[in-house]
Amino acid sequence: MTTHKPQSQIKGVSMDAPTMVLPVFYNSDYVACEEHFDTTRKAKDIYDSLKKNPIKGLRMFSPCKSRSIIKNIISRIHDPEYVRAVETGKPGHLARSNGFTWDDGIPTMAYAHCAGMAAAVTYVLMNGGVAGSLSSGMHHASYSGGTGYCTFNGCVAAIQRALDMGAKRVLLLDFDAHSGGGSMDIINRLYKKEVVHIDVTVSPFDWWQSNGEHKIYRADEDNYVAIIRKALNHARACGPFDCIVYNAGMDPINCGVSIESIRKRERMVRDFIGDTPAVFGLAGGYTWGHEMGEVVDWHRMTLTEWATPR
Ligand SMILES: [Zn+2]
Repeated sequence: MTTHKPQSQIKGVSMDAPTMVLPVFYNSDYVACEEHFDTTRKAKDIYDSLKKNPIKGLRMFSPCKSRSIIKNIISRIHDPEYVRAVETGKPGHLARSNGFTWDDGIPTMAYAHCAGMAAAVTYVLMNGGVAGSLSSGMHHASYSGGTGYCTFNGCVAAIQRALDMGAKRVLLLDFDAHSGGGSMDIINRLYKKEVVHIDVTVSPFDWWQSNGEHKIYRADEDNYVAIIRKALNHARACGPFDCIVYNAGMDPINCGVSIESIRKRERMVRDFIGDTPAVFGLAGGYTWGHEMGEVVDWHRMTLTEWATPR
């Protein structure tokens, strides 16, 4: 397994198409900052686990060649003053609005997580199929600042990449435990009918109000699968879409939802996606009271489901 195949070489991936079902993006920039937090570290743990125990059909790629594309996208979806703060550390209150201590690895880390999402979108819109990125810390970042350990909004970066490549309708499906209010803030500012945001949350954190086709659902551990079904039915009614961006948070498990319910969710999402080009990011999933190995296994449920030929 190698992570040294850049986006430009991904085009050649079609030669491997019969054996490769799922390209997944990651490189060491994902863990470049000094802050030790699950979302700034777990991508490497998952990468290491995939090296040790590969998932059939999954191959790793580095998004490094997408850096110039992602800088352009981030400059369009975030306030220039905030982007400058993330890059330079100044002003401090803005640079630390994600909740992390700033160091010069922070912009490297934040751009890399978004670059992976954009690279995954590039792949699926060129080749069809599905792809993913070991990205997290994205959906609470709003136009003008970070929040809740999120720096740049990689979910919206993926949407913007899809639109730039000609997609007319893009769905953001956000099943992280927490609400994606940061994504909604940017979507409301930048887009009209071309983007639909559907959010199932088990926490009021970063809540937003349903409006038009955009819908947010509150679920708990008892009705979780039923609410996921309801949300996917709404998504079906809003379709078809040219591209789907899925924020595949595992932190509902941290909030009491059973692993079995999440396994079902991942199957339902993959069934819903069908042949539509789609990408996923990892999003939440925390070691609070758990070993990192458990968190890795939770995220491997998404990877395994998406790597399974259909
Ligand atoms: Zn979360």
